[in-house]
Amino acid sequence: MKIKFLGGAGEVGRSAILVEDKKSLLFDYGIKVESKTEYPMHVEKVDACFISHAHLDHSGCAPVLYKDGFPEMFATPPTMDLAELLIEDSIKIHRKKHEHEKVNGSQLKTMMNRYTPCEYGRGRDFGDYSVTMYDAGHICGSSITVVERHNDNRRIAYTGDFKLEPQLLEEGADIVKSDVLIMESTYAGKDHPERIKLAEDMVNSIRETVDNGGVALLPVFAVGRSQEMLALMCKYNLIDITYIDGMAKAATEIVENYSGFIKNGRLLREAIDRSLWIENPKNRSAALEGGSVILTTSGMLNGGPVLEYIQKLNKHSKIFLTGYQVENTGGDKLVRGLPLDIDGRKFRVKTPFEAYDFSAHAGKSDLHDYVKGSNPETVICVHGSPENTELLAEELRLEGYNAFAPKVGDVLNVDF
Ligand SMILES: [Zn+2]
Ligand SMILES: [Zn+2]
Repeated sequence: MKIKFLGGAGEVGRSAILVEDKKSLLFDYGIKVESKTEYPMHVEKVDACFISHAHLDHSGCAPVLYKDGFPEMFATPPTMDLAELLIEDSIKIHRKKHEHEKVNGSQLKTMMNRYTPCEYGRGRDFGDYSVTMYDAGHICGSSITVVERHNDNRRIAYTGDFKLEPQLLEEGADIVKSDVLIMESTYAGKDHPERIKLAEDMVNSIRETVDNGGVALLPVFAVGRSQEMLALMCKYNLIDITYIDGMAKAATEIVENYSGFIKNGRLLREAIDRSLWIENPKNRSAALEGGSVILTTSGMLNGGPVLEYIQKLNKHSKIFLTGYQVENTGGDKLVRGLPLDIDGRKFRVKTPFEAYDFSAHAGKSDLHDYVKGSNPETVICVHGSPENTELLAEELRLEGYNAFAPKVGDVLNVDF
């Protein structure tokens, strides 16, 4: 079996892994969203494609597969509905910036009409194989994909992004047996802080901010973090003063429709009912009066309503970063004390900020635990910096696994 790394190997972004066995199987086809969009390498022929979850670095280029072919595509329904929302937004952003965009609306429509919906744990046959998706515990609908060959029951598992430790709305990932395991390595270099303590520390600081009449501004990713933070505000009784704005609203509505794919669906529903949804400029002014929490996109301060809010915060306010800030994004500039670019102007943020590591990825120990539980012969470490993927592969080799840390463009021959 040959595995080609079309993207997302030795890097985070544009995940795309092509397995060539009797059929050509494509795991994810994403884009890399930085100042300029990067695409995965071109792929000639795909028989079946599996989308692990909605984030654009895994789904963003998938519609292009329908340009001149009709591969079978498998994913959970929330993955595809959330991906549709994000891809539509990405097409709009490219148009606004007059940048070329490979993906177009009609390909997206074809994909949405033709894909095969998967439930967790229920296998689907295609040709000489079956595919089963399991809960990855990362965001709503996220999956660990297992492809099994019928004649000898050999299994490839692809984790996509996953988390073993439960979150408020996510159970931890299912551990599945495999012969070849293709695994993310984002945090191969460190463990995450304990979640409950982290949440309590942040909530205490938010309380102090709103009690002083300030605004607690939380820039959040539309898919995943928005819903998790909304549920957190509900759990800690801050929900009645919490406003939600931007794409976070649309994503939350989709997740609400798929309560079967999350845990604590009732907590999310209560959070939605009791929070204040921003519908017009008057609502935005009310939110900015203070004594409030605002959840809004974009999570890395690269666009969206957060940039409007950040310019109008009163002096008692504070910004709470809850996600990873990619280099050169607005959030990264904030952390490094540099001015943000807003509508062609430089804006220096005077509001203080705090950063909390609410990662939805497995930490170092969890990555090792996953491999142990899955018990493969071969592990391929992807979706991480070269330092992290190589570190993990090296540690796994010492534990007796065949482990690799490929780069984009590499081709691996694997016994399967
Ligand atoms: Zn993700
Ligand atoms: Zn990812």
